[in-house]
Amino acid sequence: MTGPKPLANILDITPYKGGQKLSSGWKLSSNENPLGCSAAARQAVIDAADTLSLYPDGGAVALREAIGSTYGLDPQRLVCGAGSDELFQLLGRAYLSPGDEILQSEHGFLVYRLVAQQSGATTISAPEKGFTTDVDALLERVTPRTRIVFLANPNNPTGTYIPAGEVQRLQAGLPEHVLLVLDGAYAEYVRAPDYSDGMDLATDMPNVLVTRTFSKIHGLAALRLGWAYGPASVIDALNRTRGPFNVSAAAQAAGIAAIQDDAFQSRSVGETETERARLTRALGEMGLSFVPSVTNFVLIDFTDHPGRGSKAADAFLRQRGIVVRDVDVYGLPHCLRVSIGTKQANDDVISALQDFMQPR
Ligand SMILES: *Cc1c(COP(=O)(O)O)cnc(C)c1O
Repeated sequence: MTGPKPLANILDITPYKGGQKLSSGWKLSSNENPLGCSAAARQAVIDAADTLSLYPDGGAVALREAIGSTYGLDPQRLVCGAGSDELFQLLGRAYLSPGDEILQSEHGFLVYRLVAQQSGATTISAPEKGFTTDVDALLERVTPRTRIVFLANPNNPTGTYIPAGEVQRLQAGLPEHVLLVLDGAYAEYVRAPDYSDGMDLATDMPNVLVTRTFSKIHGLAALRLGWAYGPASVIDALNRTRGPFNVSAAAQAAGIAAIQDDAFQSRSVGETETERARLTRALGEMGLSFVPSVTNFVLIDFTDHPGRGSKAADAFLRQRGIVVRDVDVYGLPHCLRVSIGTKQANDDVISALQDFMQPR
């Protein structure tokens, strides 16, 4: 007896491994918000407990209106998902056939590759320059089979971004039938004046979709909530592909409260900036290289420290109760990605790394 057999491309998939859970110590492996979430969002979840027997609004109308009015977007051109993750899956279902190609940057977010594999599509990666997306390298790799270009801007796990002009140049260089997905999971953290979240492109162009998440700046990773904005035809395809009740009522209620809580978002951005500056200054002082980040995490490069490599650092930190992300699967075996935590967590990271770098 052999039982049912999944498709060959499904068995090729290596399941995504999330940041390890911890019963004590600091979990700095999933870029979660160290401030928790908006108090109003938390209250909205508690209130939602009164109506758990009812199906959620399948169209997430109130949430789309709240997002629309916050960002000045047409709610008709918005769709919500169980995390941006689900939206990527839906894109794969709607646009990818076996033999198709997706295009991404060398150290692009892992989920894009999984989406391609589920559809039997191939992932083409374009080399980066200085841990940063190279638009020319992407454009050179467009083929007649390319269906989707995924660009996390800023990118995870590198923490770097490309300026608005470069994103524009990428869009302008793509054939119109290629969908450009601008994943703005960390968009809210970026203060650089030459950065754009791409909403203008998604408004004007027939082939640009922007995705966003409530998992990072809003601190609602547990609820699974994300959204996408783009051309009516792409939104229509996502609406046809999604489950009828893909976003829970608690998530919708919390999302509405969170997106209106400007104070919480500002505090998250402010503290991230302060703490990131403090952490990177300390890294520099101990002679560790890192990739300058505009996000709530930092990629540390242990290449030039014989006997003090990333594996040893990972083990050392773990002994101190600090879990960070090894980024082997991103082709960065010499690096570790460290989320910006609370002040106390970052103090512990700094002193652990100082001890690790001590001459022994
Ligand atoms: C964290 C993250 C997301 C968010 O995923 P959700 O499914 O919304 O939690 C999306 N893209 C990137 C690059 C991320 O790092």
